[in-house]
Amino acid sequence: MSRPELAVPFRERAEQALKDDFLREALTIATTKFIGLRREAFDDFPEGEGLRDRAREIKEATLQHLDRYLEQLVDAVERQGGHVHYATTAEEARAIILDVARRTGARLAVKSKSMATEEIHLNEALERAGVTPVETDLGEYIIQLAHERPSHIIAPAIHKTKGQVADLFAREVGRKVAADPEVLTRIARGELREKFLQADLGITGANFAVADTGTLVLVTNEGNGRMVTSLPRVHVAVMGVEKIVPSLSDLMVFLAILAKSATGQKLSSYTTLVQGPRRAGELEGPEELHLVLLDNGRIAQLAGPLRESLYCLRCGACLNVCPVYRQIGGHAYGYTYPGPIGILLTAMLEGPGSVKELAHASSLCGACAEACPVRIDIPRMLIELRRGLDEARLAPWPERLAFKVLGRLLRRPRLYRLAAPLGRLLQLPFARGGTIRRLPLFLGDWTRGRDLPAVAGRTFAERWTDLGRRA
Ligand code: SF4
Repeated sequence: MSRPELAVPFRERAEQALKDDFLREALTIATTKFIGLRREAFDDFPEGEGLRDRAREIKEATLQHLDRYLEQLVDAVERQGGHVHYATTAEEARAIILDVARRTGARLAVKSKSMATEEIHLNEALERAGVTPVETDLGEYIIQLAHERPSHIIAPAIHKTKGQVADLFAREVGRKVAADPEVLTRIARGELREKFLQADLGITGANFAVADTGTLVLVTNEGNGRMVTSLPRVHVAVMGVEKIVPSLSDLMVFLAILAKSATGQKLSSYTTLVQGPRRAGELEGPEELHLVLLDNGRIAQLAGPLRESLYCLRCGACLNVCPVYRQIGGHAYGYTYPGPIGILLTAMLEGPGSVKELAHASSLCGACAEACPVRIDIPRMLIELRRGLDEARLAPWPERLAFKVLGRLLRRPRLYRLAAPLGRLLQLPFARGGTIRRLPLFLGDWTRGRDLPAVAGRTFAERWTDLGRRA
């Protein structure tokens, strides 16, 4: 699906974001708050580190037998009266959901927050088919009104200030609205309540699905997930195949660390467990339940270089700590999933060629791996991705040339020692006070947004030799 924002190169999208003072202020406030809350939550939870290891082990063990767990899940969901569909591509997933909507005569769909439905561009497809989608998570509702995409995995409107949200709501309700979170929430609640009652279709994602019980698990903070799964006649849940967990006791491990990593809460306000459609004698719940298991490039990565990114719980912690994300926000990345894990997921969903620029939007500082509740080694996979891009000759030629020369130098100490005095000589017209502020020609790209440290007057090796002589 074409995205108009991708017509602009990543570098320009990032530059635009860096010039947006509102955006940077909103990002700094929100991500700093999330980082502090996460730290406090784990400081008060000594079992946390052990549970992170355990969660990682469960993820790996589940991926090793994914076929078996998927079969178990399908059996359990169907036994309870649900329908399971398998979608190899985003297009297939959209077709399945549109078919359900058509068959059940749905005109209005309420949605709970779901990155999987963002991934398959479901809203646009529903609208084209004459079904009005209404996002009911507050953040998603805001960005739907703004006709934007989420800019964070768990806080889709993180880039908006209170004033900007008040302006959007004023346009919607046709009167002036105070930039007060309580007032804004009350307005959203009033608008959405009607939609819950009118909707024919409830669409959600799923944070987890438990294989042996067929339970779909939704982790939310606003209670909208419960309304979406219980009020409309039909419930459709869309879930990546990797979200499966073997049992309820495994689920507990993930629930213990997910909310702490995401928002610093012990548990999210609502953990909704959905088990089949409404049964005879029950007062609420949908008449039909459909689970769409989405592959869309995931299965291929079971044996691929991005396998570890299938552990991801979508908590957003790696975005909050990433020095690149904190400066440019999610929209500059240009795809559904932003931040460091987003680069890997984009490579998985859209192919490595789609991230030939994005693969470099990381300082490789390792903060993402440290914050990740399942310890995904994001920097290692980013380096591998960069290597793959280089081997496929997808990176721009000046970059490939520069790194090839550097690689040769680093492998030959004698040549490296000769290069130091040469570098000192070549930098003479550009170096001032130990830094190079501007380089000529295509090398100028490197110094466009940062200074380059000048080659030192004496290298470490030269000083080390001198010290040895003096000793
Ligand atoms: S990679 Fe780790 S930190 Fe980032 S969203 Fe996924 S689970 Fe959370």
